[in-house]
Amino acid sequence: LTSGLESAWNRLKGEEVLTKENIVEPMRDIRRALLEADVSLPVVRRFVQTVSEQAVGVGVIRGVRPDQQLVKIVSDELVKLMGGEVSELTFSKSGPTVILLAGLQGVGKTTVSAKLALYLKKQGKSCMLIAGDVYRPAAIDQLVILGKQVDVPVYAVGTDVKPAEIAKQGLQEAKKKNVDVVIMDTAGRLQIDKTMMDELKDVKRVLNPTEVLLVVDAMTGQEAAALVTTFNLEIGITGAILTKLDGDSRGGAALSVKEVSGKPIKLVGRGERMEDLEPFYPDRMAGRILGMGDVLSFVEKAQEVMKQEDAEDLQKKIMSAKFDFNDFLKQTRAVARMGSMSRVLGMIPGMGKVTPAQIREAEKSLQIMEAMIEVMTPEEREQPELLAESPARRKRIAQESGKTEQQVSQLVAQLFQMRVRMKNLMGAMEGGGSVPALS
Ligand code: GDP
Ligand code: MG
Repeated sequence: LTSGLESAWNRLKGEEVLTKENIVEPMRDIRRALLEADVSLPVVRRFVQTVSEQAVGVGVIRGVRPDQQLVKIVSDELVKLMGGEVSELTFSKSGPTVILLAGLQGVGKTTVSAKLALYLKKQGKSCMLIAGDVYRPAAIDQLVILGKQVDVPVYAVGTDVKPAEIAKQGLQEAKKKNVDVVIMDTAGRLQIDKTMMDELKDVKRVLNPTEVLLVVDAMTGQEAAALVTTFNLEIGITGAILTKLDGDSRGGAALSVKEVSGKPIKLVGRGERMEDLEPFYPDRMAGRILGMGDVLSFVEKAQEVMKQEDAEDLQKKIMSAKFDFNDFLKQTRAVARMGSMSRVLGMIPGMGKVTPAQIREAEKSLQIMEAMIEVMTPEEREQPELLAESPARRKRIAQESGKTEQQVSQLVAQLFQMRVRMKNLMGAMEGGGSVPALS
């Protein structure tokens, strides 16, 4: 997956604005990558469509290169697709909070029941488990054992009682004991069938649960979409728990859940130990699906560096060809600060490694530029033309800053080059721009 995306980003390298044309290939790779990550086809189609629409017209103006910008758009959209924020569990305001777990056989319901009890116990809530899988005595034993392990009482009767009846008795018991949270484990089937759904509906009617959580095995891949849709239509779910994320699934199932049901993933299981349950973080998941978790933190930092207002202000100036030495300094400093985030930069596919020597070089040249700009008069900073026209002014700046006249000329030329480049980027080509020859 990573290598596919890497080639997509590499292809964009050097481009300065995202256009309909230059994102075709990278988007094709992204599409392929998502399909490889087991995201269902309709979800992939919608996703690629949305991202493409957003990407066109995005340029480098915000201090982020187009390929990085595309990473950001892709990951933002992935995060949004998965619900955006962490979705907390809902707790009942009066009486016990009731959590009903549903899902196919072997996905990890029984394990999750006990994990969840431990998870909530750590938050100071008292819990009780109800053993609702009456088809195999071993299933009840399994929950009893896990309950002991996490030190949470398990309400278990025999295999000869209907799950709805067990639910009813269990709930009564929990109310009597004043338990904060009741978690009911249920029986699964290898495939969706009517008996299972009817049983779940009966149990749900009796329990009137606060949460109905569908437990989904991350390895399910594309089938997750159909699975979630059916469970949601049949019994109505409030969210999902994604298990076995410690395996090598790319987590494509996570993308489908929210998209097809409108219900968020609330928790993830990432191991067989009782401690291995945690909240679902859409941003981390996006990183996992893209195989580029560190890109997210990079782009966030880059955005800090280049605030939106700054960018818009700059944009106006460029449009009116007023980009001056003050802006130049701001821009250059922003780039330098980003350069110092070499560790992060080095992790971005297509960026290559930024060596410490390169960073030192960039910082040194920034210092030189700063020294020269510092000794400019306010008029000179705002009207770089003054310097282009007057060798005497350049000479004075060289003397006062302790740099050579050639260095000053270079700086002036650089500013005009930047004006031209940025003007081109903005698509404000009318009349074009040119670099004046220094007199
Ligand atoms: P149920 O049939 O849905 O109740 O599934 P179980 O809770 O019995 O789990 C089935 C198997 O999956 C057991 O061997 C569990 O140890 C294992 N399992 C459950 N959750 C996880 C997980 O997050 N990671 C891993 N690696 N294994 C898990
Ligand atoms: Mg079970």
